[in-house]
This record gives sequence, C-alpha cells and structure tokens, in this order.
Amino acid sequence: MTWIAHDFRSDTVTKPSEGMRRAMAEAEVGDDVYGDDPTVNRLQETLAAMLGREAGLFLPSGTQSNLAALMSHCGRGDEYIAGMAAHCYVNEAGGAAVLGSIQPQPIPNEPDGTLSLEAVAAAIKPDDIHFARTRLLALENTIGGKVLPLDYIEKAEALARQHGLGMHLDGARLFNAVVAGGVSAQQIASHFDTISVCLSKGLGAPLGSVLVGQRDLIERARRIRKMLGGGMRQAGIVAAAGLYALENNIDRLAEDHENAKRLGEGLSQYPQLKVEPVQTNMVFVTVVEGDPQRFDDQLRENGIGVHSRYGHQRWVTHLDVGKKDIDAALQVVDGLLTHWPDA
Ligand SMILES: *Cc1c(COP(=O)(O)O)cnc(C)c1O
Repeated sequence: MTWIAHDFRSDTVTKPSEGMRRAMAEAEVGDDVYGDDPTVNRLQETLAAMLGREAGLFLPSGTQSNLAALMSHCGRGDEYIAGMAAHCYVNEAGGAAVLGSIQPQPIPNEPDGTLSLEAVAAAIKPDDIHFARTRLLALENTIGGKVLPLDYIEKAEALARQHGLGMHLDGARLFNAVVAGGVSAQQIASHFDTISVCLSKGLGAPLGSVLVGQRDLIERARRIRKMLGGGMRQAGIVAAAGLYALENNIDRLAEDHENAKRLGEGLSQYPQLKVEPVQTNMVFVTVVEGDPQRFDDQLRENGIGVHSRYGHQRWVTHLDVGKKDIDAALQVVDGLLTHWPDA
C-alpha cells in the first residue's frame, strides 16, 4: 500500500497529539474492574454531566457500547427498531442478534437520515404470541454526516413512549451534531435513556466510547460489558485521552465542518462528480463518469486516501487534515479530472 499523505478515509485515523499523550502519561490510574480508576471515574462523570444524565460507562469501542446498550434495553426474543443505514444494524457484525438474541427491525432511512414515523409506528408489534416484543427505538446522530432535527427527535420520542419503548442514541458523532446544529448536547440527550458517544472519531482519542444514561440501565450495561470482555484494568491511561479530547477538541469540530464545506465546494466544480450537500465533517461523492475504481486508485497513487465502495466515496475531515491537505487533494483531483475519463 502506498503511503497516504492526506488521509480523508475517516475521522478515526487521527493520532494522539502531544498534549493528549502527556495527559495519558500523567494519568492517575487504578483497577477499573474494582471501580478504582479515578481517571475513568472522572471521564464517566464528566460526560454524564455534560449530557445532563445520571451515570456513564467507559467502553473500549462504540460497537461494544451500542451492544451493551441494546442488551440493557432488550432481552432474548425482544426487538429493536433501527435504520437500515444505522451503524448498530449494518456495521456491527450482527452482534445484537448473535450475542444478544435480539432481533433487529430495520426501517429504510429517509434522505435526511430520519426514519419515517409512520413506518416506525407500523413496525411496532402489538402484544401477540406471533411477534417478537418491540422494546426499543435506536436513532443515530449524526447519521451519514447529517444532523437529526431536534423537533424530529421530540416526535420520535413521543411515539416511542406512547408504545412503552426505550430510546437509545448512537451518538458516535453527537458533538458534531451539537456544533453544527446549534443545540446543546443536553437538549439532544434529554430524549434518550442511553446515549453512546465515541471519543475516537472527530474528538481524536486513540480509542474508547462512553455510554451515558439513567443509572439502572448503565449498571446493567456494566455487567454486560464484563460479559463481553470489556472490563478493563488501568484504563485511566486511555480515559485521560478522552478527558483531554472533551476539554480541547469539541469546539474545534467547527473547523472540520468548514474544511468539509470547502472540500465539497471544490469537488462539486467537476461534472464527473456528484457531491451531496455538506452538513458536518463528511463529504459524499458519487463518480458519475468513467471507472470509479480507477479514480480511487489514482487518488491513492497520489497519496490521497478516501473511503470508497461501488463508486460512492466518503471524504472525512478531522484533526489531522487541514486546509493544506484539502488544497493538495483538490490539486490532484484537478489533474486527474481535467481530461477524465478519456486520458
Ligand atoms: C464508529 C461508529 C461506531 C462504532 O465505533 P467503534 O469504536 O469503531 O466500534 C458506532 N456508531 C457509529 C455511528 C460510528 O460511526
């Protein structure tokens, strides 16, 4: 693989900064399985307070955090409703079904990332021995780089509560939604029983997620985390990176959003590319002329990394790609597309 000089594949590729590494080196630690790690405890309490909730739980990944949440809400033979594009349905190796015996009920996502509430209502099963018990509505924000409108979340919650469902938010990029949407994290979080936040995406920590919510569900999730092999010992070393990220890297997400807009505008100059409107730190591009695989390969040969599948590219901005990287990428694209696809 050629070296990627400008890496737009994901906001997970960031490396811990010097300040973050210093915070990690200096972290006070203890055995977190005994509840003894002061830095882990501080991270959990800090994020819970930021979201206006009772308790938090530090987990090694967002996948495990979502699974622990789903298993806290749902038992064997229960069902959760989620979008067909939701990470907890499509990108977690079927963990809820395999490890939780929980059946997903997927609903197509609308172009704005929401789930039609008519479709959700129609998917909620009545109490009947033929059906799995519908227990939970799981939403994601941001989803595909898009921010869920707050009034939509309010209506979704009202529908869920009317039917006795729990509410889970996969907020892997919750703070991108906060920064872009002009609403507070507490306003969004107030509509959910559990909220999972990734520290390892745009916030720039090397790994980790925090599941936040009401205390009984979080305590259940703590037992499930142990069952899933996620009980960690001196995890304060990593939790310190998360605390550093919460203190230093939230407001600056606005820069990533500006950079993504600039990148999107640059790419939309080319008739060979169809660029979706940019809301946060992701630019979705469809290559509409020529061989998309060849375009990806040529970008890579020129040191530009993008995430690509079936002609659909995703370019993500983050801490480690700035204006210079965008200029460099646009220059390479210009060189490739001026005579594309004939050259
Ligand atoms: C990345 C991501 C996750 C999972 O996080 P990992 O730490 O990679 O397991 C969950 N949900 C969404 C929306 C994500 O983007």
